[in-house]
Amino acid sequence: MSERTCPLVKTFCFKIYHSKKNRYLHSQISLAGEIYNHCIALHKRYYRMYKKSLNAYSLQKHLTKLKKLDKYSHWNQLGSQAIQNIADRIDKAYKLFFRNRKHGIKSGTPNFKKRRNYKSFTLKQAGYKLLDNNKIKIGIQTFKYFNSQDIQGDIKTITVKRDKLCSSVTRRNEIGDIYIYIVTDFIETRIAPRTGEIVGFDFGLKTFLTASNGKDIESPLLFQQNRNTIRKANRNLSKKSKGSKNRRKALMNLERLHKQVANKRSDFHWKLANELTDKYDFMFFEDLNIKAMQRLWGRKISDLGFYSFMQKLKYLASIKGKTIFIIGRFEPSSKSCSVCGYLYKDLELKEREWCCPECGTLHDRDRNASYNILIVGASTLGLGDVSPLPTMAISA
Ligand SMILES: [Zn+2]
Repeated sequence: MSERTCPLVKTFCFKIYHSKKNRYLHSQISLAGEIYNHCIALHKRYYRMYKKSLNAYSLQKHLTKLKKLDKYSHWNQLGSQAIQNIADRIDKAYKLFFRNRKHGIKSGTPNFKKRRNYKSFTLKQAGYKLLDNNKIKIGIQTFKYFNSQDIQGDIKTITVKRDKLCSSVTRRNEIGDIYIYIVTDFIETRIAPRTGEIVGFDFGLKTFLTASNGKDIESPLLFQQNRNTIRKANRNLSKKSKGSKNRRKALMNLERLHKQVANKRSDFHWKLANELTDKYDFMFFEDLNIKAMQRLWGRKISDLGFYSFMQKLKYLASIKGKTIFIIGRFEPSSKSCSVCGYLYKDLELKEREWCCPECGTLHDRDRNASYNILIVGASTLGLGDVSPLPTMAISA
């Protein structure tokens, strides 16, 4: 059994006005990328030599020394907290790598990133100042942002991030949107009614969530709906000659489309998460090995974005006082009979229905899984008998 926790933070996002000045931010982000890659190289060398992780403190000390050298003096243009944040993040990624390896989970060490694919840097208390009239000073420049909401709480971090639009469009990273993400200690609360409703959900392709009570949620395969438009944009791009202005335009068009799909998906997730956290007090899910599913189901999985949906759902549940519980990955939810507990070991992925040889119940694969998720989850939390099986499974 496992329960993943999600950090309870409120993030306020603002878009920065388009301006020539934004080049300054782009160059700061690129500089962060350069430092990131330098740190990765140091880590890799250290790992090759000693087979263990370079600790964050020694790395920090080393970086401070480097900044005093002529060769690296330009690093001082980036706030020292941003550099510290880079070192911390790599440290965390390495710790995760070693932890995974200890548990036999395969994962890679953090890797180099092309500078133009590098997206952001993060500051804590210093290196920025919020000014009146929705202006913010970052480093030595002042920027205006769209004041879309009020910032509540004390600021913990500020992240300056460019979106994908800019990165691949031009080497010099001059075009594209820049956002600031402000994380505060503000804790949001929302009132949601206690309903006493308990449900188990199974993730799927066609049916996004198969519910143990039959109230399923269909998938809005957004990408598929937009596939033709995107395909067209892709073809259009491939016709343009490299380095041309038209190619740049076509690329921006394509990336804008991708962004639209991502926004629509995010909307769908928020709405659904809001609805479910109003309706149910307890929701049970299976811990999915998303990577394995990607291999199995291909592109559609990333289209559905289960992981980011769960993040939103957990966030809303936590501020509404509802419970999300994730049952262990190795509970064979689709292979056990939810009526008698028989384990049907040979169930293949393509079998959508199966008949239990022990008790004769005909199961819909996903529905049966959702029952099992509910049963295991409810008994783990001691919610008593939630046997959902009065009439469902036995059919002709
Ligand atoms: Zn059975």
